[in-house]
Amino acid sequence: MQLRTVLHRRFRDESGTEFIYLANSAAILALDEPTAAVVDAFVTEDGVDSEPWLKEQAKPSASELTLNDLIDLGAIRPVDETPAPRADLPPMPFPLATLVLNVTNKCNLSCTYCYEYGEDKLFDESTAGKALMDEKTARDSIDFLMRSSGDRPQVSITFFGGETLLNFEAIKTAVLYAEEQGAQNAKRVHYSLTTNATLLTDDIVDFLTTHRFGITVSIDGDKDEQDRHRSYKSGKGSYEVMEPRIKNLIKKNKERNGRPIGARVTVTAGATPVVDTYRYLAGELGFDEVGFAPVTAGLGRDYALGEQGYERLLHEFGVLGEEYVEAAGRGESHGFSNLGDLVRELHQGVNKAHPCGAGLGLVGVSTEGEIGLCHRFVESKSHSIGTVQEGLDEKARAEFLAQAHIDKKTDCAQCFARPLCAGGCYHEAHVRYGKATAANLHYCDWIRGFIDLGLKSYGRIQATNPAFLARFDQ
Ligand code: SF4
Ligand code: SF4
Repeated sequence: MQLRTVLHRRFRDESGTEFIYLANSAAILALDEPTAAVVDAFVTEDGVDSEPWLKEQAKPSASELTLNDLIDLGAIRPVDETPAPRADLPPMPFPLATLVLNVTNKCNLSCTYCYEYGEDKLFDESTAGKALMDEKTARDSIDFLMRSSGDRPQVSITFFGGETLLNFEAIKTAVLYAEEQGAQNAKRVHYSLTTNATLLTDDIVDFLTTHRFGITVSIDGDKDEQDRHRSYKSGKGSYEVMEPRIKNLIKKNKERNGRPIGARVTVTAGATPVVDTYRYLAGELGFDEVGFAPVTAGLGRDYALGEQGYERLLHEFGVLGEEYVEAAGRGESHGFSNLGDLVRELHQGVNKAHPCGAGLGLVGVSTEGEIGLCHRFVESKSHSIGTVQEGLDEKARAEFLAQAHIDKKTDCAQCFARPLCAGGCYHEAHVRYGKATAANLHYCDWIRGFIDLGLKSYGRIQATNPAFLARFDQ
């Protein structure tokens, strides 16, 4: 029988142990020397005839056992095997788990790279909805979530903007109504919110911590970095306003044993090194987690990351990754959330048919109740998939998801990063290629490099302190 290895990535941990990551199943297998030798023998495009190969081996029966194990584990398969059919979509209508409520489409800052108000915005301001979500739409949205989430025992509501806290009234209304409706429908409701922190008063902090919000603060780093892109419309930087408010939030949240508070940093060309920014945000300001996202930008924007920018980012991720692995070896958490999320996905064997939950388990809602694929698509008329008042347009939703399926992205077919990337963010693809279902081929090297870092980190944690990974079992 002609056999060959399936699409995979080989990597070693620091002790020299070899691993193989299988793109079809997202499984990670440790390879001892004899097993690695068998894998080596079958890394070929045309395949190897297993019978004569076995006869040539010094210990044919041991080699046969190893080969059979690798066949059973899906690492080596017949050359002419038709891949197992993959369901195009889960049964539809798929129950929602998360609703992202854009409670306002206005912002009190004027960040240069903003995807909502900057050069790459998706909506035309003349057709934008009203600035603030009213209380009726907030309640309609909760009703919609309750009836669209099937028998899920737990649902999440994420509040977003514009600057989310410009409409605290709608947040309060939605939370109090969701508590009531959650109890009636036997669903636990989790809340989260993203904010630029400039409007975080004591009363708001009290409300958010009382309701155990997961809070993410959009911040770019120290004063210089923050004020470089994140300024008020007058041109005045936002750092001096937000810094004491962030410290107050973190202090009170700790006192109340709240959920971890995260910083989200948008990485632009020429920004302060990621490592220094991490030290500042986690060390000086006290964030529990810090995540970095390369700016989404159309071609030619001067703040966009170029090839060198992505290389630098990868190098800096390597430095923080080293710290993450060392902390894991001691059984301690480290706040570098990009790597934490990736290690969790690797441990759980995540194998994505779609890059994210947008349109599937998650949708965004505009200030007027129009439903978009996610928060970044609300108010983009061409990506509307219903309204909270009338419900989801299931046909449009299913058509989009069928087109966005990884099997439709032929450029991704031979990529080992496919199980975790699945072509990347729809919004980024829309900005870059004018088509949300396109694969984000401009950042493949970056994604593959980052997943390589994750694989190596995972292997090292497996070798030094596998018990650390138990936290990702759920
Ligand atoms: S977009 Fe690039 S990195 Fe992502 S799965 Fe496709 S080919 Fe791989
Ligand atoms: S489409 Fe992009 S921005 Fe929207 S949820 Fe998916 S990854 Fe996030």
